Amino acid sequence: MTRTLPARSPVVEALAAAGRLPAFVYDLSELDAHVRSVRAALRGVELYYAVKANPDPELLRVLARHVDGFEVASGGELAHVRGLHPETPVAMGGPGKTDAEIHSEVTRLHVESPGELRRLLASGRAADVLLRVNLDVPVEGASLAMGGGATPFGMDPPSVAECVDLIRAQDAVRLRGIHAHLASGLEAPAMLDLAAAVVEYARGLGVAEINLGGGMAVSYAEPGRCFDWETYGRGLAELRRPGETFRIEPGRSLTVYCGRYVTRVIDVKRVHGELFAVVAGGTHHIRTPATKGHNQPVAGGEPGEPVTIVGQLCTPKDVLARRVPMRLERGDVVEFAMAGAYAWNISHHDFLMHPRPGFHYLGE
Ligand SMILES: *Cc1c(COP(=O)(O)O)cnc(C)c1O
Repeated sequence: MTRTLPARSPVVEALAAAGRLPAFVYDLSELDAHVRSVRAALRGVELYYAVKANPDPELLRVLARHVDGFEVASGGELAHVRGLHPETPVAMGGPGKTDAEIHSEVTRLHVESPGELRRLLASGRAADVLLRVNLDVPVEGASLAMGGGATPFGMDPPSVAECVDLIRAQDAVRLRGIHAHLASGLEAPAMLDLAAAVVEYARGLGVAEINLGGGMAVSYAEPGRCFDWETYGRGLAELRRPGETFRIEPGRSLTVYCGRYVTRVIDVKRVHGELFAVVAGGTHHIRTPATKGHNQPVAGGEPGEPVTIVGQLCTPKDVLARRVPMRLERGDVVEFAMAGAYAWNISHHDFLMHPRPGFHYLGE
């Protein structure tokens, strides 16, 4: 599946003219169309959105039309989602849940350890749980591995067996199935291999509800490429037996494309032969290139001598994109694409006490 990068939008010119940069610009119509196509490819697999990728209320409003539920990873996210969409089903996961979080009323609670389950059982509360499993399966090629080895996420099979015994000995807590979020950054064929291993494991336990997690690949190097939802949806449909519920909970691959971070060049300089453009703002607004070590893709622009685009922070880590073959001068507007997930909400906003960017929404 390929996507075309939309050209610079008229709103960007307007924001620049009004001196309102840096800013995030979210295209809600693009989000709506993208999630609609993902949904269609899924052929009956339930779709939850992982709120931690971007909890922006406008994005959640569009997503709520298409998803079966939201996946939250904290009491804060739960309160946020409940306040906005009280009727939408919620699954709660995450290691290190507090007692208050374990006791929240949610559609599904993803149990991460026998200790967590014991605390839930001790409360005597009813709950519908999925056990989060960390299977010993290969996750080569993943950009992040949450499973396939020793990590703090989920449980190995002996701990899962311990939980199954604890649950069978009582009836307040109901075992609905298993949850697995093993890796992120895998393409559809590798995701289907993981899914097959997880499903086989679930069948061995005798449970029929299987949450396969998120982590669908997104390519910042090739922004026009998109996870092959058709192949993935078809593969899951072939794997699923009657009576089984499959669910996925992607974050990044749903919202990343709809966001742009737009800013302006403050200075251009040559240092020891290399060209730098310093833009307003930086990685305290969009930490994504610093955490992932990639070049944030730049939309539009005219070809020119390679230039490294950095922010205003006094640290060599404040690099947004290295050696971009693009002509830049003081005052030029720079538009970073793929800024709709793990961008503003994972960034260290208060560093250097800069003003916050504006937020603007297109479409709808
Ligand atoms: C972060 C996370 C997701 C979403 O991952 P993406 O890479 O954004 O798709 C889904 N499930 C769990 C348990 C997570 O921690």
